[in-house]
Amino acid sequence: MEKVGILIEFKDDKIKKTNYGVITLARQQGCELYALVLNGNAAACKEQLQQYGIKKIIDIASKEGPLQWHPVKWARAVVAAMDHFGINTLCGLTSAQGKELLPRIAADLDAPLVMDCTDVVLNERAAKKSQFSGKTVATIKVNGNHFIFGIRPNAIEKQPDPCEAEVIPFQTTVDKEALVVKEIKLQTHTGIDLTEADIIISGGRGMQKPENFAILFECAQVIGAAVGASRAAVDAGWAPHSMQVGQTGATVSPKVYIACGISGSVQHFAGMKTAGLIVAVNTDPEANITKNCDYYIVADLFEIVPILSRQLKLVVGENQLT
Ligand SMILES: Cc1cc2nc3c(=O)[nH]c(=O)nc-3n(C[C@H](O)[C@H](O)[C@H](O)COP(=O)(O)OP(=O)(O)OC[C@H]3O[C@@H](n4cnc5c(N)ncnc54)[C@H](O)[C@@H]3O)c2cc1C
Repeated sequence: MEKVGILIEFKDDKIKKTNYGVITLARQQGCELYALVLNGNAAACKEQLQQYGIKKIIDIASKEGPLQWHPVKWARAVVAAMDHFGINTLCGLTSAQGKELLPRIAADLDAPLVMDCTDVVLNERAAKKSQFSGKTVATIKVNGNHFIFGIRPNAIEKQPDPCEAEVIPFQTTVDKEALVVKEIKLQTHTGIDLTEADIIISGGRGMQKPENFAILFECAQVIGAAVGASRAAVDAGWAPHSMQVGQTGATVSPKVYIACGISGSVQHFAGMKTAGLIVAVNTDPEANITKNCDYYIVADLFEIVPILSRQLKLVVGENQLT
């Protein structure tokens, strides 16, 4: 049975739920799964990981204890664990951290790497990913002794399959590195992580000014959504880059994407095309986004969004009562 390593990612010491989609992908293909945990939280996350069919959790640490975040050291530690446990294939998330780590691991192993996969057939070494701003889907087949795949967050639906997991400690030697992480500055981020969100409500140039994003945050709070932005809104300084969706921003795959005052450029679509349901609010009945959305509301967003928030509040309130 093929041994597949799953690089587990955390946010604020909690497992990112998008890991479960990656685990589901590999588990459904009959692979022997090894969850690789590097932040010292292996024992604490046993309960959650075993719900998704993980039987082996590798607690990777140095002789001195848990490894502090350091892309080069973490990459080497993962390579050492893969070597020790005979793992040939590694799957992780195409997230900010995944983009730091997976290419380094691939380089250390001289292994082929495919990032932003929306599907992978592991025994055929074949990955699907969208190309040219989402215009085509490519199937990429790779050869080699090791294989590294970065999966697009939320691209695969998570499905539980409970089992009993064991935590296996693995110690590795960490060399001194020329690259030193002196400081980690976390950007203050309001609410839910874009790539983790099931629902995203985004604003574009139609928002007109930064204060107007407040109506999106209000609506987002009602339904537990994350707030995104188009590049036009980010370039205007109305929202931070961490909120940008698109080719040069975050690639997201929520269940629902609500675009407010966004025209639907190819570059914006490149980042949200795989959303389950796309709703657009735009005053222009012929905006490009009409061609690619499921529901289109031709109206002023400043009228529609507050109504949407009010109506959703009622629905959410009723559901809480029942
Ligand atoms: C290399 C490259 C990379 C890029 N990367 C990205 C990227 O990652 N993400 C991204 O988004 N863009 C990206 N862009 C920019 C992209 O081409 C567009 O310029 C951008 O997406 C436009 O943003 P927008 O839809 O908010 O603005 P616009 O195209 O100006 O659209 C604004 C829309 O708001 C509507 N509107 C105005 N007022 C209201 C109102 N009151 N109510 C409802 N609707 C209203 C208008 O009808 C219009 O359709 C990139 C471009 C390049 C060249």
